[in-house]
Amino acid sequence: MVIRIRKRALLSALQGARETHPREFIALFDGEENNGETMLTDLVIPPLAQSTGRSASYVPWFLPATSTGLASFHSHPSASNKPSRGDLLHFGKTQRWHFIARYPYRVEDVAAYDSQGEKAGFEIV
Ligand SMILES: [Zn+2]
Repeated sequence: MVIRIRKRALLSALQGARETHPREFIALFDGEENNGETMLTDLVIPPLAQSTGRSASYVPWFLPATSTGLASFHSHPSASNKPSRGDLLHFGKTQRWHFIARYPYRVEDVAAYDSQGEKAGFEIV
């Protein structure tokens, strides 16, 4: 399985993380899945997202109906991009892939995980 993400989508997410700091930023990535390959193309910012310094949530039914939401993205205002216990619970019930960016939200601060919380590799295209 290969995950590719458009640079523009990832940079937009990181920009959102910077602007929301020191609160968490949460969003989704839309894309396509083909023969086990995931291509993430667009950032989707959920309406009514709420966040604090420790968690972020959204109300899924406010998402656009066309959104495939293949992957989630959220930021950690800390120096860790590892999933928290709450993240792991959420990962298992929602999207297939999950991105976490830690402060200071550079491309190299991003890690991707599968729904079990196992680290996944990704390519920026
Ligand atoms: Zn988290």
